[in-house]
Amino acid sequence: MKSIGGVDFVLLSHCHVDHIIGLDALKRDYPDAKIYIGTSDLEGLYNTYINYSFERVISEPFVIECEVLPVYEGTYNLAGNSIKVIPAAGHSPGSSLYYFEDSGLLFAGDSVAFGGIPRYDLPNSSVPGIFESLMRIKNLSLPPSAEIFFGHGEHMKYSDMISTYKIFTEPLDFYVKLQDGTSCR
Ligand SMILES: [Zn+2]
Repeated sequence: MKSIGGVDFVLLSHCHVDHIIGLDALKRDYPDAKIYIGTSDLEGLYNTYINYSFERVISEPFVIECEVLPVYEGTYNLAGNSIKVIPAAGHSPGSSLYYFEDSGLLFAGDSVAFGGIPRYDLPNSSVPGIFESLMRIKNLSLPPSAEIFFGHGEHMKYSDMISTYKIFTEPLDFYVKLQDGTSCR
């Protein structure tokens, strides 16, 4: 990262341990970098239950030490980038998507998963919230060239995702199966 000029800011999609565990090291290397997260996920940075590190699947119980600032719905200008913050409570209460308006890149975190539904079985996950957020993601009016990047896995064209993923083409079917606890990919 030093070779490309450093780090001005970090936008956290949400507070789960696999998305925050490198933060303190990054902040040590780039002390001027500002770090942001959706306001309802701030608590999870300091709570091993909410950030899911208590399960010891990925790490020992973990909380961060560095300062993190809250973001809210709206458009921010960070280091010359116009970035739309799109709240998407569900996978976690403060999950947020970030849309870089000039480059047409949408960073979705775990609010929608590559291949289908995000996990809804984690502490503070909410099935109705996930559904509502997916409908919000579906109704974003983004240009045809927009690309979506997931928290895990590949990236793809936003329009391809909307036109092929069952969670967007058959949302009610998806919702019923979600409430039953059956998978619907
Ligand atoms: Zn997650």
